[in-house]
Amino acid sequence: MNIVVCVKHIPDPNIPPEMDGKRLKRDGVQGVLDPGDEFGVEEALQLKEAHGGEVTLVSMGPETATEAIRRGLSMGADKGVLVTDPALQGSDALTTAKVLAAAIRKSGDFDLVIAGVESTDGYTGTMPATLAELLGLPQVTFAKEIEGGESSIKVQRQTADGYHVVECSTPALLTLTAGANEPRYASFKGIMAAKKKPLETWSLADLDLGDVAVQQEIAELTPAEERKAGEKFEDDGTGAAKIADFLAEAKVI
Ligand SMILES: Cc1cc2nc3c(=O)[nH]c(=O)nc-3n(C[C@H](O)[C@H](O)[C@H](O)COP(=O)(O)OP(=O)(O)OC[C@H]3O[C@@H](n4cnc5c(N)ncnc54)[C@H](O)[C@@H]3O)c2cc1C
Repeated sequence: MNIVVCVKHIPDPNIPPEMDGKRLKRDGVQGVLDPGDEFGVEEALQLKEAHGGEVTLVSMGPETATEAIRRGLSMGADKGVLVTDPALQGSDALTTAKVLAAAIRKSGDFDLVIAGVESTDGYTGTMPATLAELLGLPQVTFAKEIEGGESSIKVQRQTADGYHVVECSTPALLTLTAGANEPRYASFKGIMAAKKKPLETWSLADLDLGDVAVQQEIAELTPAEERKAGEKFEDDGTGAAKIADFLAEAKVI
């Protein structure tokens, strides 16, 4: 089973983010493989262990995004591809999907594409569905467990109350929920082996793509409103009614 995992390189979420104008500062800040995408890498490795095949990591980002790919390679993935090009700076989710679709097509035959439900920094959550459409693939969202088969997969799909069981023909694209598995640590041996694994860097000129001009402009940036102190009710016997009124006013009940 050949699996492609989309991996995004993001500023370390454990460090307070810095802004560069209206965008998140990426240059000169500590970056990591998006923790949400570690679940995708782990799932792909488990499927490969059960069914054989190859795991390819694909990313689009600045040159430093190779760090995220190296991390996935040291967990056990076989090869990686980074698409980087100054013309892609400030890309929106649609441009990202167009570029990743071209890179995935170029990287060879695949049975499955795995992405996170949403990234930890941009979190539009729209890139994977756009990618599925561009690749002409069926998509299963919010996967929490995957059973691989010859020409189909069986997926447990997280819902608010439990899960759906969905069967889907392959090739397919699925988004994996955070917590679907326990991502493995990269061993010292894995880190050393990763240095010798194939990692290609492609520019826009290497991809068969038409116009991918970045069309998104961030019009305005507003800091999130500070959390207000809550309202405290003294229970003089009317506490329950006051809380019910408060919830009704907030249209919660
Ligand atoms: C030079 C350059 C600079 C960039 N600067 C920024 C920036 O400042 N801020 C920013 O958020 N993005 C930046 N990007 C990346 C790109 O613009 C975003 O990845 C894209 O807008 C997707 O948005 P999202 O994170 O909301 O996707 P979502 O839909 O929330 O992502 C869902 C899942 O899709 C996959 N995915 C998303 N993006 C990528 C990716 N780039 N590579 C591989 N898999 C991916 C991951 O599996 C992720 O978990 C840059 C790219 C380049 C080439």
